[in-house]
Amino acid sequence: MNAFLVVGETVTLVDTGNLDGSSFEQLKRLIALEGYGLSDLDHIILTHMHIDHSGGVARIQNEVSIPVYVHEKARHVIEGGEEEFTREQAFYQEFLHRSGAAITERKTQSYRELNWQEIRYVKENEYIKMGGSDFIVEYLPGHSQTDLLFYNQEGLALAGDLLLPDISVNAFIEPPDPGTAEKPKTLLQYRKSLKKMHKLPLKAVYPGHGHVITNHKALVEKRLAEHDKRCSRILAVLEEGDATVYQLCQKIYPKLKGSAVYLGLSQIQGHLELLEVRGKTICQQRNAIDIYSIRT
Ligand SMILES: [Zn+2]
Repeated sequence: MNAFLVVGETVTLVDTGNLDGSSFEQLKRLIALEGYGLSDLDHIILTHMHIDHSGGVARIQNEVSIPVYVHEKARHVIEGGEEEFTREQAFYQEFLHRSGAAITERKTQSYRELNWQEIRYVKENEYIKMGGSDFIVEYLPGHSQTDLLFYNQEGLALAGDLLLPDISVNAFIEPPDPGTAEKPKTLLQYRKSLKKMHKLPLKAVYPGHGHVITNHKALVEKRLAEHDKRCSRILAVLEEGDATVYQLCQKIYPKLKGSAVYLGLSQIQGHLELLEVRGKTICQQRNAIDIYSIRT
């Protein structure tokens, strides 16, 4: 994954790499190659909460006392402790059951305290100073519920995993906010975010994985068209008969094994929600399992 150092009046680290020690050592080595050390950092900014982007926060803050900026939607994960973790795990188990998959299709996770310090929650339309220039904050969820894009007047953007040059991004199924019954429809959110990004005056987008993107409009259009293609594939399978999310996943992504199956289920579920909104499919429950069919 990519982490970025934005250097000027201040030194900002955007994303931290993974949780493990080797990722942290690599991060320190790369920062040193630019002539800096952790003690030169003024703050950490996170594009989103996924572990490959946020996993290094506690290790960095163990060595230097600096604030970390993250979207306010991360608050319940950061401050909710084991109770929130347990609520989320229960949601994932229920999602697997509803999709007709075995509960073992997702790696069991164990609770780990985050131990972050000096957390600053940010919102859409705030400004954050990086390297001497003001970056406006855009909240563009869908890939995760905490996705932020930052861009400045010159059209330079840091976009996390919102748009990647080489692969289509998964809009991960996530639990509803605490106290809310309905889970977010993440692919619908993601498409809305992509359309919003399409309108932004961006010249260079620095993504969370892969090389810089200089044609974000064309790439957004390509990704949106890929969603339509996936919808057509799902409809073609449903033409043969009703199916669960798991059955669709096995037909469309037959090579997925182990915990990767969850990624496929998430992908299919998102596209089924898009198809439902478009009036193409209907969902009925049998024994608390969702069965999808073509709307006739
Ligand atoms: Zn991510």
